[in-house]
Parts: sequence; C-alpha cells; structure tokens
Amino acid sequence: MKKAGVEPKDITKVVYSHFHLDHVGWTTVEQEEDNDVYEIELTFPNAIYYASKVEWVYWEDKTTDPVMSINLKTFKEPLEGKIYSLEDGEEIIPNLFAKFEFGHTPGLLNLVLKADGKTMWFMGDLVNSEVQFANPHWCYFSDNNEEKSIQKRLKIFDELCKPNTILANTNFLDEAFGYLKKEGEGRYKFERYTK
Ligand SMILES: [Zn+2]
Repeated sequence: MKKAGVEPKDITKVVYSHFHLDHVGWTTVEQEEDNDVYEIELTFPNAIYYASKVEWVYWEDKTTDPVMSINLKTFKEPLEGKIYSLEDGEEIIPNLFAKFEFGHTPGLLNLVLKADGKTMWFMGDLVNSEVQFANPHWCYFSDNNEEKSIQKRLKIFDELCKPNTILANTNFLDEAFGYLKKEGEGRYKFERYTK
C-alpha cells in the first residue's frame, strides 16, 4: 500500500470472504499509548466492512471459533455500525459482485469481477491448496461442511474452465493468477500466468 501511495485512512471498502482467523486478523491494530497501555483501533478507520449476510448471522452469537482458536469479540466489537451485510449477487462497486459459495464456512463469498469480456474470480478458502484442483474431494480441516464444499468446488471449477475466465487465489502466494483446465472427470489443473 505504501508503495502505491495509499494510506490506511484512504481505504473505504473492505470485503471479508469469511470470518476465519487468518481472514479477519488484521481488522484491528494495537496503538501503544503511555505506560504500556494499548488501544485497539481499526486498521482502516474510514472503511465500511462487507461480508455475506449469512456469515455475519452465523458468527453473531459466538464469542470464540473452536476451529481457528480466535476470540471473535476482538474483531466484532470495533466493527459495530461499520458492517454491511451483502446479499448474494450484489454489486459492491461497478462490475464487482459478491457470489455466495457456502461450504468452507456457512457464509463464504467469492468476488467476481466482470470487465472487457473477461471474468475474474477472487477466491477465499474454497480452495486452500492447489492439490484440490486435481482432487476436489479433498477437504481442508477448517471446511465447515465437507459435502457442500466439495459440491461448490466442482461447480466453480467447471465455471473457471470457461473461456476468458481468470482465477485469483491468494492462498497460492505470489503467483496467484492463472486459469483452470479440465483434465478428466472431476480433475482440473491450474495453469499460472507467467510474468
Ligand atoms: Zn477459512
């Protein structure tokens, strides 16, 4: 962000794919005050925080997440009045849509960008590892509903094999962008875009 000349206060929209620890952990930062007193503040103080309506409702009455060992209060309380609950298919900014694909969590959403005749899918944890393209039936320990997460992977993988469709997944570190090829029944291969 610094390289791009963007300050945290400039950010006006944050979209959660879901509420697992590694996807909400940066919601707040600790600011050191005098005498070792720490103040918890939102990382992006001027943003509205978007999440699927279902995800917000699911975690609302929970104070901890047993799978990811997180105290949910630490991120929910500072967000009071700043959350926007998305409906399935809702357009967040022009050409960017929220698509619900429940399974990994009850309210997981992907982002779909449509522009210049192309479609780009930004994935949350629908896929945690590339090995799941060849084996969509393999589940991750944090998949809330394994059967549903498998169904969603197979459905979205077929979608990703369509022409002019780009896949982006930050679980694949610095080589996040590519496309998908079908290699047989229930088997897919991720091909990266070369730099
Ligand atoms: Zn997750």
